[in-house]
Amino acid sequence: MTADTTTAISVVLAASRYVLLDFDGPVCAIFAGRAAPLVARELTVALKSYGVSVPDEALSRGDPLDVLRFASRASETLVADIERALQAAELAAVDTALPTPGAADFLDACRQTGRTVAIVSNNSAPAITRYLDRGGIAALVAHIEGRIPASPDLMKPHPLLLQRAIHALDASTEVAMLVGDSTTDFEAAQAIGVRGIGYANKRGKAEALARAGAAAVVHNMTELSRVVADIPAP
Ligand SMILES: [Mg+2]
Repeated sequence: MTADTTTAISVVLAASRYVLLDFDGPVCAIFAGRAAPLVARELTVALKSYGVSVPDEALSRGDPLDVLRFASRASETLVADIERALQAAELAAVDTALPTPGAADFLDACRQTGRTVAIVSNNSAPAITRYLDRGGIAALVAHIEGRIPASPDLMKPHPLLLQRAIHALDASTEVAMLVGDSTTDFEAAQAIGVRGIGYANKRGKAEALARAGAAAVVHNMTELSRVVADIPAP
């Protein structure tokens, strides 16, 4: 990590008593053992059984959440069914999710320095709860804000989930920060004036996250946790 990056992270941390932490990426790879494109295809098959064909662009990223978005535009009844199927797939996926190295250290460092963490995710809350319980890290997370069932339009980049988490923590945007690995995390944060640190786990992501508004970008949650450990919450 460069000195400039450490400085930029330190500035954000020095103002932040609350951490809004994305789940898929900074905490774990939820679909590591059960490939996301496979789940997306299963949801597509479910849609086809209702006579709805799914355009290629809804599948191009292999992201099950894209299929949910598509279903919500197709029909209200369908989106409820696809939501149920996706929630079941996410719950199953948690058992083979791959923990992000340094994620538990990061949560620990937040606790040690007096910071309160909420997970804010487009994944469903029951799956996140199950993951944290299985990993023995549930006590390090004060609040879980998962997607609102069958309302994919309210997922990030919409800022509502961040706003709900801030409200649940009795926090405010001035003393909150976000850690996320998607441009949509930063679009949501920017919309309500919350600063954030990007976690770039793939090539090319760092530039995209910086463009989307990340104050700094790290490639490693362990490194980030070391910086956190040195800076007490305000
Ligand atoms: Mg993510």
